Amino acid sequence: MTASLSPPRDRLRIAIQKSGRLAEPARALLASCGLSWRESRDRLFCYGETLAVDLLLVRDDDIPGLIAEGVCDLGIVGRNVLLEQAHDRERGGRPPAFREWRALGFGGCRLALAVPEDWAWEGPAQLRGKRIATSYPALLAAWLRERAVEAEVVVLSGSVEIAPRLGQADAVCDLVSTGSTLAANQLKPVATLLESEAVLAGPVQPLEDARGELADLLLRRLEGALRIRRSKLLICQASREVLPRLLPLLPDAEPPTVLRVDGGSDDIALQALCHGAVTWQRLEELKRAGARGLMVLPVEGMLS
Ligand code: ATP
Ligand code: ZN
Repeated sequence: MTASLSPPRDRLRIAIQKSGRLAEPARALLASCGLSWRESRDRLFCYGETLAVDLLLVRDDDIPGLIAEGVCDLGIVGRNVLLEQAHDRERGGRPPAFREWRALGFGGCRLALAVPEDWAWEGPAQLRGKRIATSYPALLAAWLRERAVEAEVVVLSGSVEIAPRLGQADAVCDLVSTGSTLAANQLKPVATLLESEAVLAGPVQPLEDARGELADLLLRRLEGALRIRRSKLLICQASREVLPRLLPLLPDAEPPTVLRVDGGSDDIALQALCHGAVTWQRLEELKRAGARGLMVLPVEGMLS
């Protein structure tokens, strides 16, 4: 007997957002795993050509439910949506039916609690008896419960950040990336409930039949594609004596190649494949430590 709800299938079906912030990056990531599709006329279904992996284009909020019902096998959705619906099921006494399989490194944001700028924030107890507007009632309720704070949760499906100005709420709990929307509404973030990003979601139990093998293949390719995305080739020159100061500054680097620069000086050229984030700040630190001509190059492919 199989654990999954759906009848055996030999094609894997992945739900992604039809339009919105995660739509393009999700498709691009899957395409970088070697998948390509033929789109149906109604643009709701994409038939996998290179692998038996089809896409269903839907609203992000529908993705966890589609996995729960077995309509789709996997989905790409914000952790915020996935956990909200998981908490909601739990509150309703329903068993978990989906889980995060792996984080995908895009769509980063956080679910934050924000209060009017003129509040002197003293901690969660200050929210007692207040009205908090959110589209994430289950996550907010769990956060308040853990802190033993009783507050009124006002559920809004959009434009949460203007609720205090409209007198609908005293505070908000909303997704934030840069914080500029909050600032434009005279609100300030005071607590983070959840760090979110796009994730690959799937059923709680592993997939069976041919779909299990396809999912394993996809996960292996995702691993490679995400690793390449993060990886950068860093090139610079320096005098040989500063090398010991440069090496610890290379973010998660493979052992670098060090070459002598032509021309008789004591200069070296350094090439390092870095798997960690090569930020501007890190480049400035390397420069201060004596590196010159710093260059960061994207990696197109890797086979070791
Ligand atoms: P749909 O029409 O599919 O319901 P939506 O309007 O609910 O779309 P989007 O605004 O496209 O959703 O956001 C999708 C996801 O993008 C969010 O659930 C979240 O995980 C992520 N995200 C990243 N940054 C932000 C941000 N600043 N505001 C909102 N969502 C963000
Ligand atoms: Zn949505």
